[in-house]
Amino acid sequence: MQFTDSHCHLDDIAFSEQLPALLAQCQQLAINRIIVPSIAPDNFTQVLNLAKRCRDNLSNITNTNPIKIYPCLGIHPWFLQALNDSHLQTLSELVIKSRNEIIAVGEIGIDGAIAKQAVNHGQTPEDNLHHQQHFFDFQLNLAKQQNLPVIIHHRQSHDKIMPFLKKYQLERKGIIHGFSGSYQQAMGYIDLGFKLGVGSTITYSRAKKTINTLKRLPLESLALETDAPSMPLSREVTGEEVLTNNEGTEQEKLETVVSSPTNSPVNLIKIFEVLSTIRPESSEEIANQLEHNINQIFFT
Ligand SMILES: [Zn+2]
Repeated sequence: MQFTDSHCHLDDIAFSEQLPALLAQCQQLAINRIIVPSIAPDNFTQVLNLAKRCRDNLSNITNTNPIKIYPCLGIHPWFLQALNDSHLQTLSELVIKSRNEIIAVGEIGIDGAIAKQAVNHGQTPEDNLHHQQHFFDFQLNLAKQQNLPVIIHHRQSHDKIMPFLKKYQLERKGIIHGFSGSYQQAMGYIDLGFKLGVGSTITYSRAKKTINTLKRLPLESLALETDAPSMPLSREVTGEEVLTNNEGTEQEKLETVVSSPTNSPVNLIKIFEVLSTIRPESSEEIANQLEHNINQIFFT
């Protein structure tokens, strides 16, 4: 079995010192491909350089077939606050210049929770949402022009994202990263040809809605991801103490763990194992189909 982490912020400072050891460990676990989205103009070159550096040096580190690192360029909705059209222009030029290196436009999207918090920065939720939509629209258009798939961030925003995807009808589709939501919401994306990113959410037994959704979806519509160093696994899976906070909605409870930087691409295997217990198919069948799904989106 071979694996691909379809969403990992491998350029994050949390990984910088241990990177060679970490990649060697990934390789031992047959995690042979890692897709690295960028999040803001600040880390565009970092992500591109990481991929180049790994391409040049990895064969020395691991001796055998090096792990392949695939960069993507995009601006994440969390980091738009101080950005304007000149940054979109920079992104557009760099995407065109790096067209043969990158495999997607991402990470892009709309975050409803961030819009609600905008009042803390003296902005109305409506203005913030409008700003996010402007960036999302531009980047979907860029993906369309360049015939690239997209990697999409969502939070409390399925109803806001869907009209844009219907508007652009991207030929190469993409991944709805870190999917959580209902069966109906999932099928809305799948009907448009998108795959859904399956990450650490499924390791939390309290994420019942998402787990029940992923159980019933076509296997052809799923992709594995860690989102490392964000989204740590449940302590139920890692064996650490279980969180006792039971207040709030499922989504809010999951969001309380996002800030703890304890996730790593090696956890992809644990996520895969949990998915295998949820799905009716054999582990081999799941692994093969998930690799096929990644190839279909990014490598055809
Ligand atoms: Zn991410």
